[in-house]
Amino acid sequence: MSRLKPALTPAAERNRRYRDKLRGGPPRATNRFWERVQKTETCWLWMGSRTRQGYGMVWFHGQHWRAHRLAWHLVNSGVPAVLDVLHRCDNPACVRPDHLFLGSDAENAADRERKGRGKHELHVKITPADAALIRRLYRRGSADCGGPALARLFGVHHRTIYNVINGTAWACRA
Ligand SMILES: [Zn+2]
Repeated sequence: MSRLKPALTPAAERNRRYRDKLRGGPPRATNRFWERVQKTETCWLWMGSRTRQGYGMVWFHGQHWRAHRLAWHLVNSGVPAVLDVLHRCDNPACVRPDHLFLGSDAENAADRERKGRGKHELHVKITPADAALIRRLYRRGSADCGGPALARLFGVHHRTIYNVINGTAWACRA
């Protein structure tokens, strides 16, 4: 039967071998990967080492991988080099295959922006004085002093404002 298969070009043949290697892999390596994943009801969390941004990192087949990218590789048949593996769930440590999708760099950037993880936002710091002022000004649902309005005023993401209000950032030391 296999003789009836059309011959693959050398490049396609290389790709196929690479894919087989990753998918079948040495099964032990693949199993070891999934053994280091903690499945919750929603996300499957990589329990190995992580980058500062929270992405799982793993050494597999002689190279470093982002854990979620490897998870995609292991479950699907490879990932085109030009595409990123992105999260639907906004959880960098998650390796659950159905929480992942393929996208380009541009989509990645748009996705980050949409989820409020823009580059600049990470570096914005508010001072305790700002926080005190935010708490004084804040009026829930107000067009002028609600979360989005104060976010614009202080140049931060509105989540930062809510963190201040909820006390997860600059909690009052009263
Ligand atoms: Zn997830």
